[in-house]
Amino acid sequence: MDTGKSNSDWSNAEIHAAVDAYLNMLSREQSGQKVNKAHENRVLREGALAGRTKGSVEFRMQNISTVLVELGRDRIEGYKPAKNVGANVERSIREALNTQSTLTPEDFVPTADEATLERRAAKLEKQPLKGEPKGIAKPEQTQTTGKSYLRDPEVRAWVRKQAKGICEGCRQPAPFEKDGSPFLEVHHVKHLAQEGSDRPSNTVALCPNCHRRCHHSSDREEFTASLYKQVGRLRPE
Ligand SMILES: [Zn+2]
Ligand SMILES: [Zn+2]
Repeated sequence: MDTGKSNSDWSNAEIHAAVDAYLNMLSREQSGQKVNKAHENRVLREGALAGRTKGSVEFRMQNISTVLVELGRDRIEGYKPAKNVGANVERSIREALNTQSTLTPEDFVPTADEATLERRAAKLEKQPLKGEPKGIAKPEQTQTTGKSYLRDPEVRAWVRKQAKGICEGCRQPAPFEKDGSPFLEVHHVKHLAQEGSDRPSNTVALCPNCHRRCHHSSDREEFTASLYKQVGRLRPE
C-alpha cells in the first residue's frame, strides 16, 4: 500500500512525528531561538519519516499550519498554510495536535515548592503562548516550608516566554541555556516578602546578573526604578 512517495498515504505514526517536530520548532521559535527548518526536515527523514522526500515533509508541515490556523492557534511563520489538505490527513493532524497538548489541570496549580514550580512552568512554556495569566494578587506562605510562597507556574512560564530569551533588565540575550532554553530567572519586582503579587505586572525575566543586581547591589533601588520605566506591563505596588 505505502509507496513511500505519495502524500496521501501517511501513517498516523508519521503524522504524529511531523506534528511533534512542528510544535517543538514553534515553541523554540516563540522563545526566541533560531530554528533551522532544513536541518529539522533532514533529521525527520533520517528517522521517523525515512523514505519521504524533502518536499513531501515540507508540504506536510504546511498542512499542519493550515490546521493550526483553522483552530485559531499560532503557526510557524516559515510554513505557509497549504491549500489542499485531505480529509484523512486533516483528521490525523487534529488528533495528533490533541494528544500533544496533554496538559493536566495539575500543571496549573500554584505551589511553594521551587522544583515543582519550575517543572510545571517548563512544561507550560513548551505550549504556544497564550494570553497573560492573572496570577495571584496575595501569594500565601505555606506552613510546611515556612519561607516559601505559593506561586503560579503559568506566570513564570508566560513572563519567561514572552521575554523571548532576552533579559528585561539589560536587554542582552540570556548568557547560557538550560535544557535547550535560554536561562532567565523570574523576579518579583516588589518582593513577595514585602507582599508583592505574583502577577505579570510585578514580575520580570532577568539574566542572573541583573537578578543579583536587584537583590544585592548598592544601586538596586535605581535599577528597580529603571525596570518600571522600561517594562511596559509593570505596575508599581
Ligand atoms: Zn540582564
Ligand atoms: Zn528576585
